[in-house]
Amino acid sequence: MRVAVFSTKGYDRRFLEAANAKFGHGLSFFEARLDEQTAVLAEGHDAVCVFVNDRVDRPVLEALANTGIRTIALRCAGFNNVDLRAADALDITVVRVPAYSPHAVSEFTVALLMALDRKIHRAWARVRENNFALDGLIGRNVHGRTVGVIGTGRIGGYVARAFRLGFGCEVLASDVTPDPELEAIGVRYVEPAELLRQVDIVSLHCPLTPETRHIVDAAAIAAARPGLIVVNTSRGGLIDTSALIEGLKSRKIGGVALDVYEQEADLFFEDLSDEIIQDDVFQRLLTFPNVLVTGHQAFLTNEALEAIAATTLDSLARAEAGEPLPLRLSAEMVHA
Ligand code: NAD
Repeated sequence: MRVAVFSTKGYDRRFLEAANAKFGHGLSFFEARLDEQTAVLAEGHDAVCVFVNDRVDRPVLEALANTGIRTIALRCAGFNNVDLRAADALDITVVRVPAYSPHAVSEFTVALLMALDRKIHRAWARVRENNFALDGLIGRNVHGRTVGVIGTGRIGGYVARAFRLGFGCEVLASDVTPDPELEAIGVRYVEPAELLRQVDIVSLHCPLTPETRHIVDAAAIAAARPGLIVVNTSRGGLIDTSALIEGLKSRKIGGVALDVYEQEADLFFEDLSDEIIQDDVFQRLLTFPNVLVTGHQAFLTNEALEAIAATTLDSLARAEAGEPLPLRLSAEMVHA
């Protein structure tokens, strides 16, 4: 299959080319992000391969359909950037990689929380300056605290296990479908509002849907325990960032660890070190000593990149052969 790969980074190309030895697809790599203007690059291909911040809304899908694209392969799990109803109407097949490595993201989530809570990011900067003073680096034990996990699917499930079995925390969870295996190890399911009222640390792992958008907002922060730590490696839109900043300023929020940000499409995955960042909300967020932000890298392990590449190319081969596509997304999966 002739595949136009958008938003290509060096690592995408490396892992896709290595996996393609088995499939022999014709891969064209484009650094450009897919949008209405760049859709024309797909001309002469059968499929496009996209990532989290590529735009796959109705106008882009129509432009792709006009160039003859019949298949879209997301090399990620989340699909909030895709208009699946429009894709169905245009007879474009969309596949994704739902479970390339939940360990990659769940382990990163725990690492991010630990780095923030034990001030490892600040200690690292100090030691590089030969400053070995410990003042200001006092952390807190995770053991003994109450951790809330919203969304206990593949990633959230491992996070809940890590905190419950690894650290011995009390773990509260919230999910539309409770997991009996987690309940069996003592994870207690409650409504999201109750969870946010009762926990010391909340980690977000549900998908971004109209229902979950801004699940952490001003009201949730007002009702939370003082000093709440917020961890988000899922999707930026789960948090109202302005409310988060107000919570940090009033010290109601004790710390924030983020791998995703609501307006990340304008920032993440690019080297902007010589640019003037125009997003004042994001810039304000970075000024707090108790905020740790990474640029959507939780998925970035060798194992995950190998699995993403292999699964994506396998789905494209199946689509080409007209075989059933177990990883196909359909309009029914769009949340009401
Ligand atoms: P998953 O589908 O296995 O789990 C999601 C869980 O959320 C499910 O159990 C589902 O029932 C639950 N859920 C749905 N609606 C909910 C609601 N309203 N309230 C509470 N729970 C709800 O997905 P996953 O593979 O665990 O991925 C979780 C999230 O992580 C996704 O949003 C994905 O986009 C994101 N992600 C981020 C990265 C990264 O690099 N930062 C990488 C992979 C995935």
